[in-house]
Amino acid sequence: MTGKRIVVLGGGFGGVAAARTARALLSRDHQVTLIDRKKRTYLCGAFPLLIVGERELLKSSRSLGLLANRGIRYLQDEVQSIDTASMTLETSEGKLEYDYLVLAPGAVYDWDAVPGAEAAYSFYDMESARRLRRRLRTFRKGRIVIGVARMPYKCPPAPFETAMVLSWFFKGRGQQDEIEIHVSTPEPMPLAVAGPEAAARLVRDMERRGIEVHTDAGVKEVSPSGREVAFTDGTSLEADLAITIPVHSPPQAVAAAGLVGSSGWVEVDRRTLQTGMPGVFAVGDVNMVPMANGRGLPKAGVFASGEGEVVGANIAAAINGTDPVAFSGVGHCFIAYGGDRVGMVAGDFMAEGKPRVELTPATARGMRAKERFERDWRRFRI
Ligand SMILES: Cc1cc2nc3c(=O)[nH]c(=O)nc-3n(C[C@H](O)[C@H](O)[C@H](O)COP(=O)(O)OP(=O)(O)OC[C@H]3O[C@@H](n4cnc5c(N)ncnc54)[C@H](O)[C@@H]3O)c2cc1C
Repeated sequence: MTGKRIVVLGGGFGGVAAARTARALLSRDHQVTLIDRKKRTYLCGAFPLLIVGERELLKSSRSLGLLANRGIRYLQDEVQSIDTASMTLETSEGKLEYDYLVLAPGAVYDWDAVPGAEAAYSFYDMESARRLRRRLRTFRKGRIVIGVARMPYKCPPAPFETAMVLSWFFKGRGQQDEIEIHVSTPEPMPLAVAGPEAAARLVRDMERRGIEVHTDAGVKEVSPSGREVAFTDGTSLEADLAITIPVHSPPQAVAAAGLVGSSGWVEVDRRTLQTGMPGVFAVGDVNMVPMANGRGLPKAGVFASGEGEVVGANIAAAINGTDPVAFSGVGHCFIAYGGDRVGMVAGDFMAEGKPRVELTPATARGMRAKERFERDWRRFRI
């Protein structure tokens, strides 16, 4: 038997899970390679707490070099192009051939899609989260506007979570009467994927904290001073601190390879995550997994990881001649409320008809589960 070459593009949740699972199920005749431009990756789920000093950067990161301990070949390199006909990737170091390819490069942010957004703050990557953290240290009073530009974006609860974490933070500093928090979404209700009941509960939780929620209002523009945010419904808000969630799109190398479908993302079989190309799978934020209501599964680390595990297992099954498994779409996402309180958006996202999802109350037990998740992530168990 000649060894197969499994190449994974991307060392985030999806790529690591695929590489880890395939490696554990395959003999050493087969090579598992993971390629990422970065050596160290960050846990984005920590950013809403990191901006208020409740998480630290180093503890929210992991080094991909450690994958070698698990028998995975890690290459720090940039994938410049993908050729599915010749089954090769072009990298800055040369060509890389594959028998199986797992695309897990995540989504990129188009900061220019919203005019003026560079004048606003964000927390959607490590650099912007660090900048916002510095700003919050000295922010004493005024109006904070958190706005989502467009669907889809990573982790649907994150903007609402951040609004509540900020409310808790300013209360702790005795500044609650000096601060006004607004959060806007292009959707008709916050966290629409979880349905009207969960949305109503989330709105109640936010209103109890004095947070004003604006729906059907995507961010259209930020003034050059960063002091005014205009929305798609024609309204606008003055802001002392504007925070935007950027427009997301698939990475250029994936788009240029003709792998993006009419949804704007890589379309895959909802159970196997296989693309239309032989031997090519796509997991995580880069794909569009249709739920029963036709909408895409939320872009979240828990799903990227679950999809990666299914793909890793199925590549091994194809090589070993064993039975494949199917992606279930059952999962949960944490939503921090500040302090030691964490709730969950949990359920069967791929249920027949429509997602069956609930928002669980925020508890100290939820925080312990979140901390466990963060520890597991650092140790490459997720
Ligand atoms: C503020 C915030 C809070 C969040 N909270 C949660 C949460 O509580 N729970 C949850 O489940 N999810 C959460 N998420 C979402 C989660 O972080 C993403 O869904 C997850 O990271 C997606 O994983 P991925 O493997 O698809 O991509 P990524 O994690 O983005 O990894 C992609 C990797 O591919 C590499 N790459 C891309 N292109 C190339 C190339 N051409 N060459 C080489 N390398 C390349 C990148 O360097 C990157 O390391 C949150 C996200 C944000 C922004």
